[in-house]
Amino acid sequence: MPELPEVETTLKGISKGILHKKIRSFDCRDKRLRWPIPADMGSFLKNQSFENAYRRGKYIILNLADKKGSVLIHLGMSGKLRISKDLKSPVKHEHWDINFNDGWTLRYTDVRKFGALLKTKKDPNKHVLIKHLGPEPLSNKFNGEYLFAKSRKKTLPIKNFIMDSKIVVGVGNIYANEALYLAGIRPTKKSGLISRCKYEELSHSIVITLKDAIEAGGTTLKDYTNAKEAPGYFKKELKVYDRGGENCLKCKKILKEIRQSNRQTVYCTNCQN
Ligand SMILES: [Zn+2]
Repeated sequence: MPELPEVETTLKGISKGILHKKIRSFDCRDKRLRWPIPADMGSFLKNQSFENAYRRGKYIILNLADKKGSVLIHLGMSGKLRISKDLKSPVKHEHWDINFNDGWTLRYTDVRKFGALLKTKKDPNKHVLIKHLGPEPLSNKFNGEYLFAKSRKKTLPIKNFIMDSKIVVGVGNIYANEALYLAGIRPTKKSGLISRCKYEELSHSIVITLKDAIEAGGTTLKDYTNAKEAPGYFKKELKVYDRGGENCLKCKKILKEIRQSNRQTVYCTNCQN
């Protein structure tokens, strides 16, 4: 599943190819994504251009020039974007194309169809899917003090707490596991019982984990202009996730695997308290 680092890398990969170009047409072959693609997306985009592109949580937001509106893209469970000027005829799972006047096309592929393509004429940050999102983990609004303040009197486990997008966006299951290991915090610990000092460590761990993944993505997931196939998600170097039953890299003890909210949690009973 694409998490924040993949979305960030995708955004970097496609931005250059789509900005400040006139949009010729929009082709929709299957509108049935997580929410239906609006029927008037074609007329909304035709003859417009994208002025800027940014990420908010796991949404890619493309603003049209002259404040004509914005497009919101979410990659869901398996969505992929690529930009190319010599694409072959679309095959199965290639649900939509945005075609530019210079011959380039932004193409969306999604096997599981949990992604989204939506539009708004208003401020996209006030969109119902965006407005309740917590701060970006890589922004200066996110730090230990913030997590500490938000967590007081909360009894939910710390892993669920940091994965709640109203608290902070973009900390998916894999990165929550990794960041908690790095900070030495047990994923089941009640979030309200963690000290300010430990939250300082945790906020740094989240930032480091995400930044490392973005950096790795920049090197392994480079080709967004490959006409043959959409780029895959990058392989992550993981210390605990998917390593239940293997040795802890710090103390060699066997890593424990449990389920939390039906998601895999792996931790070291010796290093994480
Ligand atoms: Zn250990």
